[in-house]
Amino acid sequence: MSDRKMRFACLTKKGTAEVRERPLPELGDYDVLLDMKACNICTTDYQQWLGLREHQGYPMAGGHEAAGIVKETGAKVRDLVPGDLVAAGYPGCGHCAACRNGEPNQCDEYASDTEDGYKWGFFGFSDYTVKSINELFKIRSSVKPSEAGFLEPLATVLHGMKKLRVKPFETVVVIGAGTMGLINAQAAKAYGCRVIVSEMLEKKIETARSMGFEVIDCSRQDPVEAVKKLTDGEGADAVIVAVGATSANQQGLSMLKEKDGRILLFAAGYPAPEIEIDSNTVHYRRMEVLGTFGADNRDFEEAARALSSGIIDVSKLIEEKTFRLDQIQEAYAYASEPGRYRVSVLLD
Ligand SMILES: [Zn+2]
Ligand SMILES: [Zn+2]
Repeated sequence: MSDRKMRFACLTKKGTAEVRERPLPELGDYDVLLDMKACNICTTDYQQWLGLREHQGYPMAGGHEAAGIVKETGAKVRDLVPGDLVAAGYPGCGHCAACRNGEPNQCDEYASDTEDGYKWGFFGFSDYTVKSINELFKIRSSVKPSEAGFLEPLATVLHGMKKLRVKPFETVVVIGAGTMGLINAQAAKAYGCRVIVSEMLEKKIETARSMGFEVIDCSRQDPVEAVKKLTDGEGADAVIVAVGATSANQQGLSMLKEKDGRILLFAAGYPAPEIEIDSNTVHYRRMEVLGTFGADNRDFEEAARALSSGIIDVSKLIEEKTFRLDQIQEAYAYASEPGRYRVSVLLD
């Protein structure tokens, strides 16, 4: 540890986020010192603040949707220079089979708990932090740091897209126009699909419409019937369930076309939602029920390109109201209100 300190936010118990200090880790040969610029509050963060994911443990120094500027580089870092904008991917040991295969999310060697006792030690909500070059992805410096912070959520969406194998001109229904739903919708559109979004909250319906999607207001009409109508009775080629709810799972199954439909379960819910289907139906209708979680480094690279080029535009998925590190408690409270898009903590 160096004698330099970093200030960071962590969750210490249900409903409590606080700013602490710890020594800044030493800059190893392949490490980068980051001047952090923004970190967005993910569902995994605020649901722990709400006490819904306490299995994640305390104190939790999360904040994985983070972006910063390279301040200093370790002696052997060649690919990044001071001034580069980078966003965080997943940390791994760097040496095991999974890491060498570009899948640090499958790494069993890396301990996300730090030696000084922090769970989920991403330290995204910090003024400065040190990260290995292995887990950093460069983004065009004209991208706003709060938008660069979408690297990880977008990477997980692109991972799901590959599992779902969408093809141009297919009809894809996205259930839920929250942050992850609308990233999924944009990705499906980028793949050349017709995208229909189902949502019940007015604010989210408006956001989805403003992005150019066909929207079903499922508070006013049965989304299954609406999808059938919009597809001349055929149903969807694929459905992405971006809400963690049993009713959304059942709607998704019912919207699929008669044969070879695919459904992707993108979201977790607490308590765990259920999905009810008999195996004969899956068998005779040749259905695919797919799950996805996390991303590999190839997904991160693609996500960095998509954000840098603007092919995926996340600007409408960030709340206008932003917070500073010292306002972390208010930021969590605001992010936890129903219907919020990503809440960004600015770290300057
Ligand atoms: Zn996240
Ligand atoms: Zn590893």
